[in-house]
Amino acid sequence: MANQMKEKMMDYSSRRQFLASASATALWPFLNLPIAEAGNRRSSFVDYPFKLGVASGDPAPDGVVLWTRLCPQPASDDGGVPPEDIQVQWQVAADEAMKHIIRKGFATAAVDWGHSIHVEVEGLEPDRSYWYQFKVGMDVSPVGRTRTAPAADAILANFRFAFASCQKYNDGYFTAYEHMAQDDLRAVFHLGDYIYEGVGNEGDAPTRYFDAPEATTLQLYRNRYALYHADPHLQAAHAAFPWIVTWDDHEFANDCAGAVSDDPAVSTADYLKRRAGAYKAYYENLPLRRAALPMGPDMMLYRRISFGQMIDFSVLDTRQYRSDQPCETKYRTPCDGIFDPKATMLGDAQEKWLCEGLNTSGARWNVLAQQVMMARPDFVYKPHKEGEITFCMDKWDGYHVPRTRLLQYISDHQISNPVVLTGDVHRNWVNDLKVDFDNPESATVATEFVGTSISTNGDGTEGKEIAEAVKAKNPFVKFFNSERGYVRCDVTADEWRSDYRTVPYITTPGAPCVTRATFVVENGQSGAVRA
Ligand code: FE
Ligand code: CA
Repeated sequence: MANQMKEKMMDYSSRRQFLASASATALWPFLNLPIAEAGNRRSSFVDYPFKLGVASGDPAPDGVVLWTRLCPQPASDDGGVPPEDIQVQWQVAADEAMKHIIRKGFATAAVDWGHSIHVEVEGLEPDRSYWYQFKVGMDVSPVGRTRTAPAADAILANFRFAFASCQKYNDGYFTAYEHMAQDDLRAVFHLGDYIYEGVGNEGDAPTRYFDAPEATTLQLYRNRYALYHADPHLQAAHAAFPWIVTWDDHEFANDCAGAVSDDPAVSTADYLKRRAGAYKAYYENLPLRRAALPMGPDMMLYRRISFGQMIDFSVLDTRQYRSDQPCETKYRTPCDGIFDPKATMLGDAQEKWLCEGLNTSGARWNVLAQQVMMARPDFVYKPHKEGEITFCMDKWDGYHVPRTRLLQYISDHQISNPVVLTGDVHRNWVNDLKVDFDNPESATVATEFVGTSISTNGDGTEGKEIAEAVKAKNPFVKFFNSERGYVRCDVTADEWRSDYRTVPYITTPGAPCVTRATFVVENGQSGAVRA
């Protein structure tokens, strides 16, 4: 990988010379073929076309999705790409040097899809690493590494992955990804707020400000993804592991809920038109399968990803189908609206799919990879009325009935080792999940690991006093920490370990990364214990 990065630093002409050398010709035997035989080998880009890097995602036992997007000028509206469909070659190798090619082919980087490419490679072997690369004209992409899932009946010794969320570019550097890329992982889960749609010149780190209005159109969302993808640390983490992504609100609009705009001046039709642009840009910019192809303002993002008999991930979408947040103010004292029996967080179809999947799963660990906090804490660090409790209407708190229904289902059906992974809140938390949060003695039916942000909210301000206050008010909270970072999980048949990996600052680059805390869940015993 180090060579890859160095290579990336070369200017365009020297890179071309380097890549046109004998070794590159050996890697790409069709390099010198006449155009008619090698397809449309366009080489008239104004600059290096793979500036957004490469990615892979949604691993299956026999394949994976490969992604890239041609974009020689990330800061320009058209990306610097000619307004035509472009043929791109791809290949998958069994080795990092790309000598033993297993699969190869052509894919179209279509104008209509922002010159993105999604190749669903099939016919690979389960549970092994592969390397991949793209080529267009004389230009070859960096080499990415990926890994297929184990066979459905495979018994694994362990499964090691990371999850992350909330990477507001204007708030700081993606230092956590610099460290994650060096980690030893089979996959990365992203739980949302991959981009932030707001204006570019506000936030917590002026050095990362940029000149852009709030994203409201397909073009503006595309531009925002180009800005983010150009980040070298985000690229390195994508190039190192397959990612499984789901969105939260900021890929579209702050605190979005279903098709309801908070602004009465915006019609439902206009709101859904904006959502169509946001969803399309999301699909274009992430390694998703065809099953997720957006249809206008709708996109099927929830899905199940399994790794042998060890672990099933139900990847959820808590934004597209939810009913509107109750009770106006976001952080507030409990109100009647949170007990609305008709409220929904997942929508009927997704909730049914989730419950059926959990109930029929044969996996040792059953994970909900989702967005907003499921536990019911008193947010003591938010605006507070003397002697009152403060809930957050945007999280499962605002949806008491569906939360209770889901946790009751998990309890009644004795789902094997349920674990909830959460993003959104820009803090690290470890929570016991209970059907009855008011009774500290009641059974813990699942474990929740909440991961902090990669960069959102800057360096992280709340210290030990607030952490102690959070835990004192909420007996089901085991850990609270406001540093930036990611969570690494190492799972065996006997136990789940979550390492809270944190960086002390992100408003300047180069911070070290430490394991701030480790929490363990024993097989058959919901609730985490600090190691
Ligand atoms: Fe966020
Ligand atoms: Ca969010």
